[in-house]
Amino acid sequence: MTIILPDLPYRYDALAPVISETTMRFHHDKHHARYVEVGNLLLADKVPRPTDLEGIVRHAARAGEVKLFNNAAQAWNHGFFWACMSPNPAGPRGDLERTILEVFGDVADLKTAFVTEGINHFGSGWVWLVAKAGGLAVLSTHDAETVITQEGVTPLLVCDLWEHAYYLDHQNNRAAFLSSWWDGLVNWDFVEGQYAAAKGENEGWRYPEVEGKAEDKLRVNQAR
Ligand code: FE
Repeated sequence: MTIILPDLPYRYDALAPVISETTMRFHHDKHHARYVEVGNLLLADKVPRPTDLEGIVRHAARAGEVKLFNNAAQAWNHGFFWACMSPNPAGPRGDLERTILEVFGDVADLKTAFVTEGINHFGSGWVWLVAKAGGLAVLSTHDAETVITQEGVTPLLVCDLWEHAYYLDHQNNRAAFLSSWWDGLVNWDFVEGQYAAAKGENEGWRYPEVEGKAEDKLRVNQAR
């Protein structure tokens, strides 16, 4: 099984000026690619080899395989992050909007909670909007940590808080990055799809399919 580096779902320059083409090229082609590369090196001698990246991340977290976890989770988080952005955002709407109003009072209050969480997060990591226990919550994770290892939590939205995500375009001004990111780039259609997944209406986003031999998948299935 091989972790792939999925193409961006838009052009490298599609998110400018909030995120420049230069940042996207480094971020996707160097940072994300390196997590994929190292993750694959660490997986090379695993038997049975897991068949999906979600399984690898959860296995590495349970087994305490820190280096594999860091690279696999960073690959997953970046794939999810690309999907969370759109050059043509619209929304939120419908059931998601109603729930945001119930939980946060207003979409603007959710923005404040999300941006504040990101600003106050010390060092590298990720800021998330998640669905859990029938409600919504804003939280942050450190370094490579991801919410897909948390029981009963469905990620709806994430923003990268590592300096490589914004330093070329916003220098040290994480607040300006987060505010303009929220206003200009959130893919609300994607967030709505994830919210539907949290309610059991679909499977939710998965990291793009990896190459895998049928016998590897069979062995893993038999081991379950
Ligand atoms: Fe990143």
